[in-house]
Amino acid sequence: MPEGPQIRFIKDQSEQFIHQPVLNAEGDAEGIPLDLIKGQCLTDIKTYGKELLFCFPDFAIRVHLMLFGKYAINGELNRKLRLGFEFENGTLNFYASNCRIIREPLHKLYDWSLDVMHPTFDKKQALAKLARKPERLISDALLDQNILAGVGNIIKNEVLFRRQVHPESTVGKIPEPVLAQLVQECVKLSFKYLEWKREGTENEHWSVYRKKICPRDLIPLQKEKIGRQGRTCYFCDKCQQLYLPDNIA
Ligand SMILES: [Zn+2]
Repeated sequence: MPEGPQIRFIKDQSEQFIHQPVLNAEGDAEGIPLDLIKGQCLTDIKTYGKELLFCFPDFAIRVHLMLFGKYAINGELNRKLRLGFEFENGTLNFYASNCRIIREPLHKLYDWSLDVMHPTFDKKQALAKLARKPERLISDALLDQNILAGVGNIIKNEVLFRRQVHPESTVGKIPEPVLAQLVQECVKLSFKYLEWKREGTENEHWSVYRKKICPRDLIPLQKEKIGRQGRTCYFCDKCQQLYLPDNIA
């Protein structure tokens, strides 16, 4: 599933269409009024976590790539088109994505201070929200889009490895400074990820994600589905500390 930095990268590439009128809109996305979009000028593109928001004067189109979504800029993929925009200077096509029209002002729906890549991201608020569910596993908590919007499975795994925290640790048992470092690392790594994405080198930089050997200890990494969402965790039993409640430890 594309994570915040990948969504920001799509935004970067799509900015060439801002201030352009939509010449044609096509696709089988349910509930998207294609006729209404035609002729409208794209005024802005925003991102929120894993969502792209294409802004028009009176509404916005939200695109979420979900698990298997794809996109093509100035090109077409051999798939069923979900939503495609044609501009004078090119095309923007989405496949296997979830698309929705938003008629309310965006600030009423989105709290940008939850987005780890937004300038208003509020670290203290994220820590306070983490503290509200102390019994949760950290591997679940970091993926919570209502706390750290944009963080996905790659960032989660890499951040836990970098800060040496075991994914099965209980949030409430992780010392506060370590938790604060985890949140900070989510921000830092998201921006690094975007840089690497722009260079096309992101896959060269992962320490544990889809890797087999711990780069610190040179021993095999663990690969397990952990937590309520059952997302795959890659981790090292030796150098990532497990913080457990007293009754389990
Ligand atoms: Zn290790």
